[in-house]
Amino acid sequence: MSEAKAPDPAIKDPAIIRDYHAHVYYEPASSRDRAARLREHVAAAFPEARLGRWHDALVGPHTRSMYQIAFPVALLATFLPWLLLNRDGLTVLLHPETANDLADHTAHAAWLGEILPLRLEALREGPQLAGT
Ligand code: ZN
Repeated sequence: MSEAKAPDPAIKDPAIIRDYHAHVYYEPASSRDRAARLREHVAAAFPEARLGRWHDALVGPHTRSMYQIAFPVALLATFLPWLLLNRDGLTVLLHPETANDLADHTAHAAWLGEILPLRLEALREGPQLAGT
């Protein structure tokens, strides 16, 4: 005998993802040129991606200089494989935007390359803050 099961409240529906961010990290003294080349390639290949400004000075939860690439959900299947092959050794934090900044940068996050520490006290469980 089968009965319809209630949805498991611990399972999150990916439909809550509004878009994605890829934060591209670099060292101003040693890898900014590589980050600039990557940025140019992204702009050329993915015009739907929105490139954020350069943050040589640390901002938000980030503990290394970075810029942000915001992109729509529909772009993930093509942009992520491209980024995996072309990040040129740069560390990237990929995270969804679900309106929970803390979870999006921790439990929901994927790292390409090394995993960097984040200043989690700069995040909160709520609407997005600047630089996140
Ligand atoms: Zn972000």
